[in-house]
Amino acid sequence: MAKFVLVGSGLAGGLLATYLGRRGYEVDLYERRADPREGNIVGGRSINLAISTRGIHALQTIGIAEEALQHAIPMRGRMIHDRSGELHFSPYDIDPKKCINSIGRAALNTTVIEAAQRYPNVRVHFNHKCTGVDIDSALAHLETANGAVTARGDAVVGVDGAFSAVRKSMQSEIAKFEYDESYLAHGYKELTIPPGPDGSWRMEKNALHIWPRKSFMMIALPNPDGSFTCTLFWEFEGPRSFATTKTDDDVRRFFAEEFPDALPLMPTLLDDFRNNPTGSLVTIRCAPWFYRDKACLVGDAAHAVVPFYGQGMNAAFEDCVVLDECLEEYSQNRERAFAEYFRRRKQNVDALADLAIGNFIEMRDKTASKTFRAKKKLDHALEAALPGIYLPLYTMVTFTRMPYARAAKRAQIQDALVYASPFLIAAILLAAMLWLVAN
Ligand SMILES: Cc1cc2nc3c(=O)[nH]c(=O)nc-3n(C[C@H](O)[C@H](O)[C@H](O)COP(=O)(O)OP(=O)(O)OC[C@H]3O[C@@H](n4cnc5c(N)ncnc54)[C@H](O)[C@@H]3O)c2cc1C
Repeated sequence: MAKFVLVGSGLAGGLLATYLGRRGYEVDLYERRADPREGNIVGGRSINLAISTRGIHALQTIGIAEEALQHAIPMRGRMIHDRSGELHFSPYDIDPKKCINSIGRAALNTTVIEAAQRYPNVRVHFNHKCTGVDIDSALAHLETANGAVTARGDAVVGVDGAFSAVRKSMQSEIAKFEYDESYLAHGYKELTIPPGPDGSWRMEKNALHIWPRKSFMMIALPNPDGSFTCTLFWEFEGPRSFATTKTDDDVRRFFAEEFPDALPLMPTLLDDFRNNPTGSLVTIRCAPWFYRDKACLVGDAAHAVVPFYGQGMNAAFEDCVVLDECLEEYSQNRERAFAEYFRRRKQNVDALADLAIGNFIEMRDKTASKTFRAKKKLDHALEAALPGIYLPLYTMVTFTRMPYARAAKRAQIQDALVYASPFLIAAILLAAMLWLVAN
Protein backbone atom coordinates (compact mmCIF):
# COMPACT_ATOMS: atom_id res chain seq x y z
CA MET A 1 0.00 0.00 0.00
CA ALA A 2 1.22 3.55 -0.76
CA LYS A 3 2.70 5.67 1.99
CA PHE A 4 1.44 9.19 2.70
CA VAL A 5 3.48 11.78 4.56
CA LEU A 6 1.05 14.29 6.08
CA VAL A 7 2.34 17.64 7.31
CA GLY A 8 0.18 19.23 10.05
CA SER A 9 -2.03 17.46 12.56
CA GLY A 10 -4.56 20.23 13.00
CA LEU A 11 -8.26 19.58 12.48
CA ALA A 12 -8.02 18.47 8.85
CA GLY A 13 -4.68 16.65 9.30
CA GLY A 14 -6.05 14.42 12.07
CA LEU A 15 -9.23 13.68 10.13
CA LEU A 16 -7.42 12.98 6.85
CA ALA A 17 -5.03 10.60 8.63
CA THR A 18 -8.10 8.74 9.93
CA TYR A 19 -9.60 8.46 6.44
CA LEU A 20 -6.30 7.32 4.89
CA GLY A 21 -5.68 4.93 7.78
CA ARG A 22 -9.11 3.37 7.18
CA ARG A 23 -8.22 2.77 3.54
CA GLY A 24 -5.13 0.87 4.65
CA TYR A 25 -2.50 3.39 3.53
CA GLU A 26 0.70 3.80 5.52
CA VAL A 27 0.50 7.26 7.10
CA ASP A 28 3.14 9.32 8.87
CA LEU A 29 1.71 12.54 10.27
CA TYR A 30 4.18 15.27 11.29
CA GLU A 31 3.14 18.17 13.51
CA ARG A 32 5.33 21.09 14.55
CA ARG A 33 3.60 21.51 17.92
CA ALA A 34 3.71 19.28 20.97
CA ASP A 35 0.97 16.70 21.55
CA PRO A 36 -2.25 18.64 22.41
CA ARG A 37 -3.02 15.97 25.04
CA GLU A 38 -0.04 17.22 27.01
CA GLY A 39 -1.94 20.43 27.74
CA ASN A 40 -0.65 22.31 24.73
CA ILE A 41 -3.65 24.33 23.57
CA VAL A 42 -3.83 24.82 19.81
CA GLY A 43 -2.59 28.32 20.45
CA GLY A 44 -3.68 31.76 19.52
CA ARG A 45 -6.74 30.93 17.48
CA SER A 46 -10.44 30.40 18.08
CA ILE A 47 -10.84 28.31 21.21
CA ASN A 48 -14.21 27.16 19.94
CA LEU A 49 -15.75 26.85 16.51
CA ALA A 50 -19.13 26.28 14.93
CA ILE A 51 -19.50 22.86 13.35
CA SER A 52 -22.47 22.19 11.08
CA THR A 53 -23.82 19.65 8.58
CA ARG A 54 -20.75 19.30 6.33
CA GLY A 55 -18.31 18.88 9.20
CA ILE A 56 -20.64 16.52 11.07
CA HIS A 57 -21.11 14.40 7.94
CA ALA A 58 -17.33 14.01 7.63
CA LEU A 59 -17.15 12.82 11.24
CA GLN A 60 -20.15 10.51 10.81
CA THR A 61 -18.70 8.86 7.72
CA ILE A 62 -15.70 7.77 9.73
CA GLY A 63 -17.80 6.84 12.79
CA ILE A 64 -16.57 9.46 15.27
CA ALA A 65 -19.37 12.05 15.24
CA GLU A 66 -20.89 10.98 18.54
CA GLU A 67 -17.53 10.97 20.30
CA ALA A 68 -16.58 14.35 18.83
CA LEU A 69 -19.90 16.05 19.50
CA GLN A 70 -20.48 14.81 23.04
CA HIS A 71 -19.66 18.20 24.60
CA ALA A 72 -20.82 20.37 21.70
CA ILE A 73 -23.43 23.01 22.46
CA PRO A 74 -26.24 23.51 19.93
CA MET A 75 -26.81 27.13 18.87
CA ARG A 76 -30.29 27.56 17.42
CA GLY A 77 -29.99 31.12 16.14
CA ARG A 78 -28.38 34.54 16.40
CA MET A 79 -28.92 36.56 19.56
CA ILE A 80 -28.47 40.17 18.52
CA HIS A 81 -27.41 42.62 21.24
CA ASP A 82 -28.11 46.24 20.38
CA ARG A 83 -26.34 49.21 22.00
CA SER A 84 -29.10 49.65 24.59
CA GLY A 85 -28.67 46.01 25.63
CA GLU A 86 -31.97 44.98 24.04
CA LEU A 87 -31.93 41.42 22.66
CA HIS A 88 -33.43 40.07 19.43
CA PHE A 89 -33.35 36.36 18.66
CA SER A 90 -33.33 35.26 15.03
CA PRO A 91 -33.52 31.46 14.52
CA TYR A 92 -31.24 29.91 11.89
CA ASP A 93 -34.01 27.88 10.32
CA ILE A 94 -37.74 27.20 10.46
CA ASP A 95 -36.87 23.75 11.77
CA PRO A 96 -35.75 24.28 15.39
CA LYS A 97 -33.74 21.04 15.17
CA LYS A 98 -31.42 22.65 12.62
CA CYS A 99 -28.66 24.28 14.62
CA ILE A 100 -24.96 24.90 14.48
CA ASN A 101 -22.80 23.58 17.30
CA SER A 102 -20.13 25.25 19.37
CA ILE A 103 -17.25 22.82 19.79
CA GLY A 104 -13.86 23.16 21.48
CA ARG A 105 -10.97 23.22 19.00
CA ALA A 106 -8.54 21.40 21.29
CA ALA A 107 -11.01 18.61 22.16
CA LEU A 108 -11.97 18.11 18.52
CA ASN A 109 -8.32 18.05 17.51
CA THR A 110 -7.62 15.38 20.13
CA THR A 111 -10.61 13.30 18.96
CA VAL A 112 -9.45 13.22 15.33
CA ILE A 113 -5.83 12.46 16.26
CA GLU A 114 -6.91 9.62 18.56
CA ALA A 115 -9.22 8.26 15.87
CA ALA A 116 -6.26 8.20 13.45
CA GLN A 117 -4.01 6.49 15.99
CA ARG A 118 -6.47 3.61 16.34
CA TYR A 119 -5.19 2.43 12.97
CA PRO A 120 -1.86 0.63 13.43
CA ASN A 121 -0.76 1.91 10.01
CA VAL A 122 -0.97 5.56 11.19
CA ARG A 123 1.92 7.10 13.14
CA VAL A 124 1.83 10.63 14.58
CA HIS A 125 5.05 12.53 15.25
CA PHE A 126 4.79 15.73 17.31
CA ASN A 127 7.49 18.40 17.58
CA HIS A 128 8.44 17.94 13.91
CA LYS A 129 8.39 21.18 11.95
CA CYS A 130 8.40 20.90 8.18
CA THR A 131 10.84 23.34 6.61
CA GLY A 132 10.22 22.37 2.99
CA VAL A 133 9.38 19.55 0.63
CA ASP A 134 11.12 18.13 -2.46
CA ILE A 135 7.94 17.54 -4.34
CA ASP A 136 9.47 15.47 -7.15
CA SER A 137 10.59 12.86 -4.66
CA ALA A 138 7.81 13.34 -2.03
CA LEU A 139 10.43 14.08 0.60
CA ALA A 140 9.66 16.31 3.58
CA HIS A 141 12.43 18.08 5.50
CA LEU A 142 11.69 18.30 9.21
CA GLU A 143 13.26 20.10 12.13
CA THR A 144 13.21 18.42 15.53
CA ALA A 145 14.80 19.11 18.93
CA ASN A 146 17.46 16.54 17.97
CA GLY A 147 18.27 18.04 14.59
CA ALA A 148 17.03 17.78 11.02
CA VAL A 149 15.39 14.62 9.67
CA THR A 150 13.65 13.71 6.43
CA ALA A 151 10.50 11.70 5.71
CA ARG A 152 9.92 10.08 2.35
CA GLY A 153 6.56 8.86 1.14
CA ASP A 154 4.84 8.09 -2.12
CA ALA A 155 3.01 11.39 -1.64
CA VAL A 156 3.18 14.36 0.71
CA VAL A 157 -0.04 16.08 1.76
CA GLY A 158 0.10 19.63 3.12
CA VAL A 159 -2.51 19.93 5.84
CA ASP A 160 -0.43 22.59 7.52
CA GLY A 161 -2.84 25.50 7.54
CA ALA A 162 -2.99 28.93 5.96
CA PHE A 163 0.78 29.52 6.04
CA SER A 164 1.59 26.08 4.68
CA ALA A 165 5.23 25.11 4.20
CA VAL A 166 4.21 22.42 1.70
CA ARG A 167 2.36 25.00 -0.40
CA LYS A 168 5.42 27.27 -0.33
CA SER A 169 7.54 24.45 -1.76
CA MET A 170 4.93 23.78 -4.45
CA GLN A 171 4.86 27.48 -5.25
CA SER A 172 8.60 27.61 -5.79
CA GLU A 173 8.79 24.35 -7.75
CA ILE A 174 5.68 24.41 -9.95
CA ALA A 175 5.84 26.73 -12.94
CA LYS A 176 2.69 28.90 -13.22
CA PHE A 177 1.52 28.10 -9.69
CA GLU A 178 -1.25 30.64 -9.01
CA TYR A 179 -1.25 32.25 -5.61
CA ASP A 180 -3.26 35.04 -4.09
CA GLU A 181 -3.53 36.15 -0.46
CA SER A 182 -5.61 39.06 0.73
CA TYR A 183 -6.06 40.44 4.22
CA LEU A 184 -9.06 42.23 5.68
CA ALA A 185 -8.49 45.63 7.26
CA HIS A 186 -9.93 44.03 10.42
CA GLY A 187 -8.15 41.90 12.96
CA TYR A 188 -9.60 39.84 15.80
CA LYS A 189 -9.02 39.41 19.49
CA GLU A 190 -10.43 36.71 21.76
CA LEU A 191 -11.92 37.71 25.12
CA THR A 192 -13.80 35.82 27.81
CA ILE A 193 -17.10 35.87 29.63
CA PRO A 194 -16.47 33.49 32.55
CA PRO A 195 -19.19 31.22 33.97
CA GLY A 196 -21.59 32.46 36.65
CA PRO A 197 -20.81 31.58 40.29
CA ASP A 198 -22.77 28.30 40.03
CA GLY A 199 -21.08 27.33 36.74
CA SER A 200 -24.06 28.46 34.68
CA TRP A 201 -24.05 30.49 31.45
CA ARG A 202 -24.52 34.21 32.01
CA MET A 203 -26.30 34.71 28.68
CA GLU A 204 -28.56 32.45 26.59
CA LYS A 205 -26.54 29.27 26.17
CA ASN A 206 -28.06 27.96 22.92
CA ALA A 207 -27.33 30.93 20.69
CA LEU A 208 -24.50 32.59 18.83
CA HIS A 209 -24.36 36.08 20.31
CA ILE A 210 -23.63 39.04 18.04
CA TRP A 211 -23.03 42.69 18.91
CA PRO A 212 -23.24 44.22 15.39
CA ARG A 213 -21.86 47.77 15.25
CA LYS A 214 -21.77 48.55 11.50
CA SER A 215 -18.03 48.64 10.75
CA PHE A 216 -17.06 46.17 13.49
CA MET A 217 -18.64 43.56 15.75
CA MET A 218 -18.17 41.18 18.63
CA ILE A 219 -19.50 37.62 18.73
CA ALA A 220 -19.63 35.03 21.53
CA LEU A 221 -19.92 31.23 21.44
CA PRO A 222 -20.74 29.12 24.51
CA ASN A 223 -18.32 26.62 26.08
CA PRO A 224 -19.27 23.53 28.11
CA ASP A 225 -17.80 24.98 31.34
CA GLY A 226 -20.35 27.83 31.41
CA SER A 227 -18.05 30.40 29.83
CA PHE A 228 -18.31 32.16 26.48
CA THR A 229 -15.44 32.89 24.14
CA CYS A 230 -15.96 36.33 22.64
CA THR A 231 -14.21 37.50 19.49
CA LEU A 232 -13.93 41.17 18.71
CA PHE A 233 -13.51 41.86 14.98
CA TRP A 234 -12.25 45.42 14.65
CA GLU A 235 -10.22 47.62 12.33
CA PHE A 236 -6.44 47.41 12.83
CA GLU A 237 -6.02 51.12 12.01
CA GLY A 238 -8.20 54.21 12.08
CA PRO A 239 -9.52 56.79 14.55
CA ARG A 240 -11.21 54.06 16.64
CA SER A 241 -9.30 50.84 16.20
CA PHE A 242 -6.92 48.35 17.79
CA ALA A 243 -4.12 50.81 17.01
CA THR A 244 -5.62 53.73 18.91
CA THR A 245 -6.93 51.75 21.89
CA LYS A 246 -3.83 51.66 24.02
CA THR A 247 -4.64 52.18 27.69
CA ASP A 248 -6.96 50.32 30.04
CA ASP A 249 -9.15 53.42 30.13
CA ASP A 250 -9.42 53.37 26.30
CA VAL A 251 -10.54 49.74 26.40
CA ARG A 252 -13.03 50.29 29.23
CA ARG A 253 -14.51 53.37 27.55
CA PHE A 254 -14.85 51.60 24.20
CA PHE A 255 -16.63 48.63 25.77
CA ALA A 256 -18.87 50.88 27.89
CA GLU A 257 -19.93 52.76 24.76
CA GLU A 258 -20.31 49.82 22.41
CA PHE A 259 -21.03 46.70 24.48
CA PRO A 260 -22.56 48.03 27.71
CA ASP A 261 -24.44 44.78 28.48
CA ALA A 262 -21.32 42.62 27.96
CA LEU A 263 -18.90 44.78 29.97
CA PRO A 264 -20.17 43.74 33.45
CA LEU A 265 -19.85 40.08 32.39
CA MET A 266 -16.17 40.49 31.44
CA PRO A 267 -14.14 40.84 34.65
CA THR A 268 -10.92 39.79 32.88
CA LEU A 269 -11.44 42.14 29.93
CA LEU A 270 -8.41 44.36 30.53
CA ASP A 271 -6.02 41.42 31.00
CA ASP A 272 -7.49 39.56 28.03
CA PHE A 273 -7.25 42.64 25.83
CA ARG A 274 -3.66 43.30 26.82
CA ASN A 275 -2.40 39.71 26.71
CA ASN A 276 -4.27 38.03 23.87
CA PRO A 277 -2.81 38.42 20.40
CA THR A 278 -4.57 40.37 17.66
CA GLY A 279 -4.97 37.94 14.77
CA SER A 280 -5.28 38.79 11.10
CA LEU A 281 -7.95 37.54 8.70
CA VAL A 282 -6.67 36.14 5.44
CA THR A 283 -8.19 34.66 2.30
CA ILE A 284 -5.85 32.41 0.34
CA ARG A 285 -6.54 31.09 -3.13
CA CYS A 286 -4.10 29.00 -5.10
CA ALA A 287 -3.94 26.53 -7.95
CA PRO A 288 -3.18 23.76 -8.60
CA TRP A 289 -3.53 21.94 -5.28
CA PHE A 290 -1.52 18.95 -6.46
CA TYR A 291 1.67 18.01 -8.21
CA ARG A 292 1.60 14.77 -10.22
CA ASP A 293 0.93 11.91 -7.79
CA LYS A 294 3.49 13.36 -5.37
CA ALA A 295 1.95 16.29 -3.49
CA CYS A 296 -1.46 17.60 -2.55
CA LEU A 297 -2.98 20.35 -0.39
CA VAL A 298 -6.00 20.00 1.92
CA GLY A 299 -7.89 22.43 4.20
CA ASP A 300 -6.59 25.92 4.93
CA ALA A 301 -3.32 25.09 3.17
CA ALA A 302 -5.31 25.04 -0.07
CA HIS A 303 -7.99 27.64 0.67
CA ALA A 304 -8.05 29.73 3.84
CA VAL A 305 -11.27 31.75 4.16
CA VAL A 306 -12.31 34.42 6.67
CA PRO A 307 -14.39 32.94 9.51
CA PHE A 308 -17.71 34.75 9.01
CA TYR A 309 -19.68 31.84 7.59
CA GLY A 310 -18.32 29.44 10.22
CA GLN A 311 -17.27 27.15 7.36
CA GLY A 312 -13.45 27.02 7.20
CA MET A 313 -13.14 23.81 9.20
CA ASN A 314 -16.37 22.42 7.76
CA ALA A 315 -14.95 22.92 4.27
CA ALA A 316 -11.59 21.42 5.30
CA PHE A 317 -13.45 18.33 6.60
CA GLU A 318 -15.45 18.16 3.36
CA ASP A 319 -12.10 18.18 1.48
CA CYS A 320 -11.14 15.01 3.37
CA VAL A 321 -14.39 13.29 2.34
CA VAL A 322 -13.96 14.26 -1.31
CA LEU A 323 -10.27 13.30 -1.43
CA ASP A 324 -11.15 9.95 0.15
CA GLU A 325 -13.87 9.38 -2.48
CA CYS A 326 -11.45 10.26 -5.29
CA LEU A 327 -8.78 7.92 -3.92
CA GLU A 328 -11.38 5.17 -3.92
CA GLU A 329 -12.65 5.94 -7.43
CA TYR A 330 -9.13 6.19 -8.89
CA SER A 331 -7.36 3.76 -6.62
CA GLN A 332 -4.92 2.78 -9.38
CA ASN A 333 -4.09 6.32 -10.43
CA ARG A 334 -3.26 8.70 -7.59
CA GLU A 335 -2.50 11.63 -9.87
CA ARG A 336 -6.00 11.32 -11.37
CA ALA A 337 -7.45 11.12 -7.85
CA PHE A 338 -5.63 14.32 -6.82
CA ALA A 339 -6.68 16.08 -10.03
CA GLU A 340 -10.31 15.06 -9.62
CA TYR A 341 -10.32 16.14 -5.96
CA PHE A 342 -8.98 19.57 -7.03
CA ARG A 343 -11.57 19.83 -9.83
CA ARG A 344 -14.47 18.99 -7.51
CA ARG A 345 -13.40 21.36 -4.75
CA LYS A 346 -11.77 24.44 -6.27
CA GLN A 347 -14.79 26.34 -7.60
CA ASN A 348 -16.72 25.52 -4.44
CA VAL A 349 -14.17 26.87 -1.99
CA ASP A 350 -13.69 29.92 -4.22
CA ALA A 351 -17.44 30.51 -3.89
CA LEU A 352 -17.17 29.99 -0.12
CA ALA A 353 -14.38 32.58 0.12
CA ASP A 354 -16.69 35.18 -1.45
CA LEU A 355 -19.65 34.14 0.69
CA ALA A 356 -17.55 34.41 3.86
CA ILE A 357 -16.49 37.97 3.08
CA GLY A 358 -20.09 38.87 2.21
CA ASN A 359 -21.31 37.45 5.49
CA PHE A 360 -18.97 39.72 7.45
CA ILE A 361 -20.89 42.72 6.13
CA GLU A 362 -24.18 40.98 6.89
CA MET A 363 -23.17 40.08 10.46
CA ARG A 364 -21.55 43.32 11.54
CA ASP A 365 -23.94 45.70 9.79
CA LYS A 366 -27.19 44.22 8.56
CA THR A 367 -28.11 41.91 11.46
CA ALA A 368 -28.80 45.05 13.54
CA SER A 369 -31.49 46.30 11.19
CA LYS A 370 -35.23 45.65 11.16
CA THR A 371 -34.97 45.05 7.39
CA PHE A 372 -32.57 42.17 8.02
CA ARG A 373 -34.93 40.59 10.53
CA ALA A 374 -37.86 41.07 8.15
CA LYS A 375 -35.81 39.48 5.30
CA LYS A 376 -35.02 36.47 7.52
CA LYS A 377 -38.73 36.11 8.33
CA LEU A 378 -39.60 36.33 4.64
CA ASP A 379 -36.89 33.73 3.89
CA HIS A 380 -38.38 31.38 6.47
CA ALA A 381 -41.96 32.01 5.26
CA LEU A 382 -40.93 31.22 1.68
CA GLU A 383 -39.05 28.12 2.84
CA ALA A 384 -42.19 26.93 4.67
CA ALA A 385 -44.50 27.78 1.75
CA LEU A 386 -42.24 26.28 -0.92
CA PRO A 387 -40.59 23.30 0.76
CA GLY A 388 -37.65 21.95 -1.24
CA ILE A 389 -38.05 24.76 -3.78
CA TYR A 390 -36.97 27.85 -1.85
CA LEU A 391 -33.96 27.42 0.42
CA PRO A 392 -32.34 30.43 2.13
CA LEU A 393 -28.62 30.78 1.34
CA TYR A 394 -27.63 30.32 4.99
CA THR A 395 -29.62 27.06 5.10
CA MET A 396 -27.98 25.73 1.93
CA VAL A 397 -24.48 26.56 3.15
CA THR A 398 -24.92 25.45 6.73
CA PHE A 399 -27.54 22.72 6.80
CA THR A 400 -27.01 20.93 3.49
CA ARG A 401 -24.04 19.46 1.62
CA MET A 402 -25.01 21.19 -1.61
CA PRO A 403 -21.76 22.31 -3.30
CA TYR A 404 -21.01 25.89 -2.21
CA ALA A 405 -20.91 27.25 -5.78
CA ARG A 406 -24.32 25.76 -6.55
CA ALA A 407 -25.77 27.20 -3.32
CA ALA A 408 -24.44 30.67 -4.16
CA LYS A 409 -25.85 30.51 -7.69
CA ARG A 410 -29.22 29.23 -6.55
CA ALA A 411 -29.48 32.00 -3.94
CA GLN A 412 -28.80 34.62 -6.62
CA ILE A 413 -31.62 33.24 -8.77
CA GLN A 414 -34.01 33.02 -5.80
CA ASP A 415 -33.24 36.60 -4.77
CA ALA A 416 -33.75 37.85 -8.31
CA LEU A 417 -37.15 36.13 -8.45
CA VAL A 418 -38.28 37.24 -4.98
CA TYR A 419 -37.23 40.85 -5.44
CA ALA A 420 -38.40 41.04 -9.03
CA SER A 421 -41.77 39.40 -8.33
CA PRO A 422 -43.59 42.42 -6.79
CA PHE A 423 -42.61 44.45 -9.88
CA LEU A 424 -43.61 41.57 -12.11
CA ILE A 425 -47.03 41.26 -10.45
CA ALA A 426 -47.53 45.04 -10.61
CA ALA A 427 -46.61 45.03 -14.31
CA ILE A 428 -49.05 42.18 -15.04
CA LEU A 429 -51.85 43.96 -13.13
CA LEU A 430 -51.14 47.19 -15.00
CA ALA A 431 -51.15 45.39 -18.34
CA ALA A 432 -54.43 43.68 -17.40
CA MET A 433 -56.01 47.00 -16.42
CA LEU A 434 -54.84 48.66 -19.63
CA TRP A 435 -56.21 45.72 -21.61
CA LEU A 436 -59.60 46.02 -19.80
CA VAL A 437 -59.74 49.77 -20.43
CA ALA A 438 -58.84 49.29 -24.08
CA ASN A 439 -61.47 46.59 -24.57
C1 LIG B 1 -11.10 33.37 14.57
C2 LIG B 1 -11.46 32.18 13.76
C3 LIG B 1 -12.67 31.56 13.95
C4 LIG B 1 -13.03 30.46 13.19
N1 LIG B 1 -14.25 29.89 13.37
C5 LIG B 1 -14.62 28.84 12.61
C6 LIG B 1 -15.91 28.25 12.79
O1 LIG B 1 -16.71 28.66 13.63
N2 LIG B 1 -16.24 27.18 12.00
C7 LIG B 1 -15.40 26.71 11.04
O2 LIG B 1 -15.76 25.74 10.33
N3 LIG B 1 -14.16 27.23 10.86
C8 LIG B 1 -13.77 28.30 11.62
N4 LIG B 1 -12.53 28.84 11.45
C9 LIG B 1 -11.63 28.29 10.41
C10 LIG B 1 -10.87 27.07 10.93
O3 LIG B 1 -10.15 27.43 12.08
C11 LIG B 1 -9.91 26.56 9.87
O4 LIG B 1 -10.54 26.48 8.62
C12 LIG B 1 -9.40 25.16 10.25
O5 LIG B 1 -8.66 25.24 11.42
C13 LIG B 1 -8.57 24.58 9.12
O6 LIG B 1 -8.01 23.37 9.53
P1 LIG B 1 -6.60 22.90 8.96
O7 LIG B 1 -6.33 21.59 9.61
O8 LIG B 1 -6.61 23.01 7.49
O9 LIG B 1 -5.56 23.99 9.47
P2 LIG B 1 -5.10 24.28 10.95
O10 LIG B 1 -6.21 24.07 11.90
O11 LIG B 1 -4.45 25.62 10.90
O12 LIG B 1 -4.00 23.18 11.25
C14 LIG B 1 -2.74 23.23 10.67
C15 LIG B 1 -1.79 22.39 11.52
O13 LIG B 1 -0.54 22.32 10.86
C16 LIG B 1 0.49 22.56 11.79
N5 LIG B 1 1.61 23.14 11.05
C17 LIG B 1 1.68 24.36 10.47
N6 LIG B 1 2.86 24.54 9.86
C18 LIG B 1 3.55 23.39 10.06
C19 LIG B 1 4.85 22.96 9.66
N7 LIG B 1 5.67 23.76 8.96
N8 LIG B 1 5.25 21.72 10.03
C20 LIG B 1 4.45 20.91 10.74
N9 LIG B 1 3.21 21.26 11.16
C21 LIG B 1 2.76 22.50 10.81
C22 LIG B 1 -0.12 23.54 12.79
O14 LIG B 1 0.56 23.55 14.01
C23 LIG B 1 -1.54 22.99 12.90
O15 LIG B 1 -1.62 21.99 13.87
C24 LIG B 1 -12.14 29.95 12.22
C25 LIG B 1 -10.89 30.56 12.03
C26 LIG B 1 -10.56 31.67 12.79
C27 LIG B 1 -9.22 32.31 12.55
